[in-house]
Amino acid sequence: MNMNQYPAEPFRIKAVETVKMTTREERIAAIKAAGYNTFLLNSADVYIDLLTDSGTNAMSDRQWAGIMMGDEAYAGSRNFFHLEETVRELFGFRHIVPTHQGRGAENLLSQLAIKPGQYVPGNMYFTTTRFHQEHNGGIFVDIIRDEAHDASLNIDFKGDIDLNKLKKLIEEKGAENIAYVCLAVTVNLAGGQPVSMKNMREVRALCNAYHIKVFFDATRCVENAYFIKVKESGYADKSIREIVFEMFSYADGCTMSGKKDCLVNIGGFLCMNDDDLFESAKELVVVYEGMPSYGGMAGRDMEAMAIGLKESVEFEYIEHRVMQVRYLGDRLKEAGVPMIEPAGGHAIFIDARRFCPHLKQEEFPAQSLAANLYVESGVRSMERGIVSAGRDKITGEHHRPKLETVRLTLPRRVYTYRHLDVVADAVIELFKNKEKIKGLKFIYEPKQLRFFTALFEEI
Ligand SMILES: *Cc1c(COP(=O)(O)O)cnc(C)c1O
Repeated sequence: MNMNQYPAEPFRIKAVETVKMTTREERIAAIKAAGYNTFLLNSADVYIDLLTDSGTNAMSDRQWAGIMMGDEAYAGSRNFFHLEETVRELFGFRHIVPTHQGRGAENLLSQLAIKPGQYVPGNMYFTTTRFHQEHNGGIFVDIIRDEAHDASLNIDFKGDIDLNKLKKLIEEKGAENIAYVCLAVTVNLAGGQPVSMKNMREVRALCNAYHIKVFFDATRCVENAYFIKVKESGYADKSIREIVFEMFSYADGCTMSGKKDCLVNIGGFLCMNDDDLFESAKELVVVYEGMPSYGGMAGRDMEAMAIGLKESVEFEYIEHRVMQVRYLGDRLKEAGVPMIEPAGGHAIFIDARRFCPHLKQEEFPAQSLAANLYVESGVRSMERGIVSAGRDKITGEHHRPKLETVRLTLPRRVYTYRHLDVVADAVIELFKNKEKIKGLKFIYEPKQLRFFTALFEEI
């Protein structure tokens, strides 16, 4: 493999965090104690933590300086105005309501914009997003293009909405029974797959024709913009800033998890253009989060977020970020490890169905693979498959997603290419001995978002 195709780090390291090296015996004991659930491992027992890219970002010296500039006034903090101005400048929305993280914004939007019994079409589900939609009486409908469910199909913009599916749903149920369209950029559970600008434009046009609102899940919008720049015709010469701005011009608002593309460790926000919706959101945010000028965030956190957002749209940063993910994917691909293709923006998703063909989906192959990877190497990953998908509210049966995956998620600006080699070597070693991976069964299954706290044992 030629390293020159992957950009070197566009930063240097000013502070380091020492990590513990563990023995195989220690890791076996730790994973048993955690009920084979990588969410329940102590971070101190993890060498390379690829559990999530959520809130695990390394902040810059400028952001840390911003932390010292926190204005912790209860109301009207200057950091809020800085954040508001930054979001207006980059996204173009008129109103912003800060929240403690992305799901806080999802809670507000779902309560305000969904009437019980209404449909909420989206390009594949996300755990907390769908939870809030259903909790408020909404019926989630997946309208992502079919190809997104096929892990091995290597095509661009696998996150696109299938316009025929959307149109059919509107015609069948009636436009008044659609709460709004939820369009995620990128699509996390499809493998971090991006949505094309063309698709956003077409979704907007179709929804305009029926007077239906479109809200983006903006969580990884900058990664999405990078893919548009390098893959969609007409965008090569546009800046990431320009692309992000155009993307949001097709939305009525968005929910944002600041823990991802805003390059901070906590925070989120809800945006909208509609004045009435903004008034209602301000009333509701006081109940669940805090005053509309902090909504669950400290002044310093809003400052770090405003600075992080500006850094996130710099080309050198986002190119390195997405290409690091590509590097890990390329190393695994070279060794024949099955995964979702093409590599997405934040993570490599190993295809556990093809990795462990000897296990049935009810034996939780991805959950077990994640546990085994930890034992092999001290690398922490997570299951995104049948366990994450949960059970149908009405029938009580498991949702059975086509994609049964282990996600190796890269924190932003945290690990080097050499760390990624350690990860790749461990996965490749496991792949050579895959028959030894055993199935799992539940010993404790929580009712909501079960993947966070479920306990398992080996069959
Ligand atoms: C993380 C995430 C959320 C929820 O955000 P939190 O900050 O974790 O509450 C919503 N949508 C997507 C696609 C996410 O990845």
